[in-house]
Amino acid sequence: MKKIAVLGSTGSIGVSTLEIVNAFPERYQIVALTAGSNIDLLLQQIRLFSPRIVSVISDVDVQKLKSQLEGVDVQICSGVTGMISCATASEVDMVVAAVVGAAGLVPTMAAIKAGKDVALANKETLVTAGSLIMAEAKRQKINLLPVDSEHSAIFQSLAGQRREDVRRLILTASGGPFREYSLAQFATVTPADALAHPNWDMGRKISIDSATMMNKGLEVIEAHWLFNFPAAMIDVHVHPESIVHSLVEYQDGAVMAQLGVPDMKTPIAYALAWPERLPLSQKPLDLCGMGQLSFSEPDKVFFPCLQLAYDALASGGTVPAVMNAANEVAVEAFLTNQLSFLKISQVIEKVMYLHRSENLTTVEQALRADLWGRRKAQELISGGVV
Ligand code: MG
Repeated sequence: MKKIAVLGSTGSIGVSTLEIVNAFPERYQIVALTAGSNIDLLLQQIRLFSPRIVSVISDVDVQKLKSQLEGVDVQICSGVTGMISCATASEVDMVVAAVVGAAGLVPTMAAIKAGKDVALANKETLVTAGSLIMAEAKRQKINLLPVDSEHSAIFQSLAGQRREDVRRLILTASGGPFREYSLAQFATVTPADALAHPNWDMGRKISIDSATMMNKGLEVIEAHWLFNFPAAMIDVHVHPESIVHSLVEYQDGAVMAQLGVPDMKTPIAYALAWPERLPLSQKPLDLCGMGQLSFSEPDKVFFPCLQLAYDALASGGTVPAVMNAANEVAVEAFLTNQLSFLKISQVIEKVMYLHRSENLTTVEQALRADLWGRRKAQELISGGVV
């Protein structure tokens, strides 16, 4: 029986994780859950999975949960310390890190330090402090398993191969809903347009990241840290059908890929069960029914966020943390109609330009850079500078 903590249980990945746990009760048990503001869903999850400990963001929600759960044996905590308590609970074997944004960094690091295996869905953790996370994972000899579909595909395509034989990694990108837009169309994009992703059913933040292609930029940085290949060996192909989830090219010209219907349950299940595979009841991939799959080069002029991420990775130090923070603020401003779609990348670029990079040696420093990036982005947006 694998005992699991899910950080971010009411988000898209968290909900899918719990569906898998529910389908395999003889293999998995939920020990801890953390959630943001969706208290009603968390209540349902607590009643269904009977975790020993849960955590929410605010103390107000703690009282709300307590009043609804009288007589239920569950410890209810709040804030970052609550998330850390969930991530490090003594009986937990694996932490599913599915919090959105840089907020996942501290509890994920705590889980690794406590020797827990981590199924990592939170790419911003690696973007913000990848060198520190990977060094600690090595030190603690834990398994860090990718949940992001592209990284799961690369992980599977690297299995049984020698890393010195790898020529390059190729991440696929759907290209988002605006793949064929003109510049004039970009100027009028609304949050509702950007939230309607053609292939994947995802949370709000990642849907916008997908529309700007910052999601792919973050994933290039994530791949760099997870698999320890330089940026020059990581390419992106636009693949609108989202069937080939990513590929690895070897020096003899062979290319290994992992394919499947676009459903996050497959990579989540692989991370939970690795090195085994779970018998999921999904509709099989029907390649003949699909007819054809297409691929093209990404357009870095229309999607400048992708290039910004490569630039941040090349700069190193605290730059990726600052870029990620500025992106989180810009996306939120776009979603609340304070910033146009085209200005998202402009805010990020300006914040990166204004930042004085430092070598990254501690988590506290990564958090300070994150905070600086947030403040600077907010300042530029509020001041109408961008
Ligand atoms: Mg992905």
